[in-house]
Formats: sequence, structure tokens, C-alpha cells
Amino acid sequence: MSKKPPKVLVVSFDGGVWANLKPIAEAGIMPNLQKLLKEGNSGDLESTIPPVTPPAWTAFMTGCNPAKSGVFDFYEHQEGSYKPSLTTNKSIQVDTLWKILSDSGLRVGIIDVPINYPPPEVNGFIVSGWERPSNKKVFTYPADLGPKLIEKLGDYPICLRTFDRQGTKDIDFLNSLIDISNKVSSAACYLLDEEKTDFFMVHFQTTDIIQHSFWPQIATFDFNSEDPVMKKIWEFYSNLDQHLGEIKSKGGEETTFLLVSDHGFGPVKRRMATNIWLVENGYLKLKQDINTQIQTQVKSTAIKMIHKVDALARLKNRIKVRKEEDAEQRVIVPRGFDAIDYKESRAFGGIGTVYGTIQLNLIGREPEGIVPQSEAESLKDEIIGKLINVKDPMSGETFLESVKRKEEVFNGPLLNKIPDLILIPNKAFFLFPGTNEKELFHEAHSLSTGNHVKEGIIAIDGPLSNKIDLNNAKIVDVLPTILEIFGLKKPGYVDGSNLLETVPIG
Ligand SMILES: [Zn+2]
Repeated sequence: MSKKPPKVLVVSFDGGVWANLKPIAEAGIMPNLQKLLKEGNSGDLESTIPPVTPPAWTAFMTGCNPAKSGVFDFYEHQEGSYKPSLTTNKSIQVDTLWKILSDSGLRVGIIDVPINYPPPEVNGFIVSGWERPSNKKVFTYPADLGPKLIEKLGDYPICLRTFDRQGTKDIDFLNSLIDISNKVSSAACYLLDEEKTDFFMVHFQTTDIIQHSFWPQIATFDFNSEDPVMKKIWEFYSNLDQHLGEIKSKGGEETTFLLVSDHGFGPVKRRMATNIWLVENGYLKLKQDINTQIQTQVKSTAIKMIHKVDALARLKNRIKVRKEEDAEQRVIVPRGFDAIDYKESRAFGGIGTVYGTIQLNLIGREPEGIVPQSEAESLKDEIIGKLINVKDPMSGETFLESVKRKEEVFNGPLLNKIPDLILIPNKAFFLFPGTNEKELFHEAHSLSTGNHVKEGIIAIDGPLSNKIDLNNAKIVDVLPTILEIFGLKKPGYVDGSNLLETVPIG
């Protein structure tokens, strides 16, 4: 290999958190990570509000908060409609790191980073992330790279989702995650060997899925367990570490290596259904329409039955996969928004998948708005006042850390794409819309026993690692820092700051 390695090489673990990775590394299961921690510089990387994959990776790619980038969650409010639309690469309204580097004549290689479907044009190549609906669609730029990877590797799987575990054995699910990590790493190593790039990044989504699925098991740190599922979990991390080592070894002496995540992870103690809280407090009314009720009932009964019967669940998965081949994007489908009687509702929750969100049903803004603009602020005060006193009935703990008006948290021209109120939960508590639920409070979903927290990770190795200040590092700071490494200045509108100390000239 005679060509020069990339100047910046990034590996990302979706949802990577030191609380989990450090004990695993220290136990000898991840020696390459342990070496990186010892020799490099590392710290927490603060995620976005909310700490969810699409806004967080968009903040990484753009250095901007959601009111500038246009990406707030897996889906977003559409003006003039109650039906949320799905977030895709086209939702991003500012230049990405790949675009800025490409426009500066630098060559980029990007593999599996979320919110890159449909694949944008770059100077180099890009493989879309796990939200791509199917490999039958064009999922790479240039378009012929996808078929080339499939031919080279035999297959190029799309990462499984948390709820794909339904109806499968834990061992099989874990083996599939290992296989997906293997393919992603093979693609990265192949492209690092074959192609010259200035900036290269490869993303592992499997690290998020294993933590959603097996958080309590991981958090035991029982490395000597004889349980086959536990052994397989440690095998997953050991295998991931080999990939980390192999990919990192493709860098050269002048390469700055970064390991990053978009958000951290933690346990789920309890969940609260935002829309049920709004119903119980008289702000939201569900449709009395008998057909909707029957449909909702039939759907939820059918889902419950399917959850109980493995064979049926597998069938459901097959049907889902077939349908998704024609979908715009496949990660998550908004549910329940059509069960709300908007003509009788002053507020509704909807697009928050980790934190909660509430949108007022404003006259002139929503299609069937009933709240006059003049009453908006007092209604927000009233809702906030009630919400901050909500207690978890089991522990008696206050459920929410705070409830923020969007303008308190975000700034930018796309503030109108963000819901009016953001419900930030206390540790281990989570929110979900839950429109079709009967109860306000819920235990962790059996398929998702871990969930996102705002403390992600960053570790840096290479010639500049000691010149980078990782105290209070935020995910929006990564773009300005990488641009600085390339001698480029961040665009003026970017929220993040360069973490690289200015080196005195001469
Ligand atoms: Zn994520």
C-alpha cells in the first residue's frame, strides 16, 4: 500500500458510553480500546437535546443545533398536517462536514453514518446508514459502490433494529449483530486499502442495538458468566475491539484518530406516555369514532398476540421487511397521531422518542387549531407547572428534570420545526407518545431495556491528541475541530467551537 492514509480517521460506536465501555476494556475484552484510552486523550461528548440518533449525528455532521440543522428526531412536524414526516438526509438544511470537505477539494469516505439516506453526492464515496430501506435501492454514492460491496463481501446487511429481536433467539440476534459488525468493518478495511481519502469515517450501529436489547445483562459486568447469552455479549465486544484495532491500524503517523458516539446509554426504570398524561389532564381528546376505536383495539390486540407467538412474529417481520422495500426510510413509523380528536385538543405529544415533546394546537398554525395565540404562553405555563410535579408512582421520584420552551433550548431559523415544549426526564426515566396506551406509566419495554443518555464518548489519538481540550466537549464541537485539523475555518453560523488549541506560529 503506497498511498497516504487519511489525515482524519473516525470510528463511531452508536450510543457508546464510558460507563459500559471502560469496565469492558479494563477486563481485557477490548485491548485496543484500552490502549487508546491509555495512550490517547478521552472524555465525555455531550449529545444534543434530545440525545437521539438523527439530531445527534446531524449535529456531528453540521456543528449545528436542530433549529439550524432542521433535524430534531426520527420524525418531524409537517406544516399544515398532523402527520409527522420521516427524517432523511434531505431534512438537513445546512452543509455537512462531508460537503464542506468535498467543496474544499478533499476526498471523503463515509460508511454507514445515520441520516445519510438517500446518499448525498460527495467528493469520494458514501454508504448510507441503517435507515436505508433496502439494498435494492441506490444506497451508496457513487451508485455502483453498493453492488460492488455486495459482490466483494457476499452481502452488505442493513443493521437490525431493536424490535427485530421479537421472535428470535437472543443468541441468533447477537450472532447477527456480530455478523453485521464484521461486514461493516470488512467494507471499511477494503475501502481504506483501495481508495485514497483525506477524511474517512466508519460507523457501527450494532453498539446501539445491543445496549437497547441487553442493557441489564451488560451492566452486570459479569465477565466470568457461563451463561451462553452473556458469553455472546462479551464476544460481541471483543469482536468489535478487533475491528477497532484493525481499522485504526490503517491510519499513519500523521493521522488523527477519533472514536466517537452520538449519545450515551443507561438503564430504563420507567416510561411515561406523554399523550396519556395530556388526556388525563384534559388537554387532549382521543377520537370517539367507533371505527378508530375498533381499529386501535384490533391493532393493539393483534400486536399483543403477535408478541406472544414466535412464529407469528417472524411472519410479521417478514411482512414488515417486504413493505419496507418501498418505504422512504425504515427506522421508525409514527403511530397514533390519527387517533387524536384535534378539534377538541389543546395540546398533543408526538415526535419525542427519548425525551417528550408537546405541541400546542394553535389557531393559524395547526390545521384544526383551537388555541388562540393570545393564550399560548399561559397554556404553556400551566402545562409546565403541572408536569414538573409529576412523580413516578413506584419510587415517588420526580419524573422530569425540567420542561423547556423550545426557544429556551434552541436557536435558529428552523425553530418552527421543533415542538413547543421539550420534556427532559430525570435519570433512567423516559417518555414516549403512547397515544394508544391505556396506562400513564410503563415499565421498560421488554425489547428495549436500555435507552439513551446525553453523555456520549470521544477519544483521540495521533499527533494532535494532546492539543485537543476535551473538557466539556460537545458533539457540535467535532465539525469545527476537524475543519481546523484541515486548516479550514468553520462557517459563521455553526454553534460548535474548535477544541484544538491554537498552535502559536513560529
Ligand atoms: Zn444513536
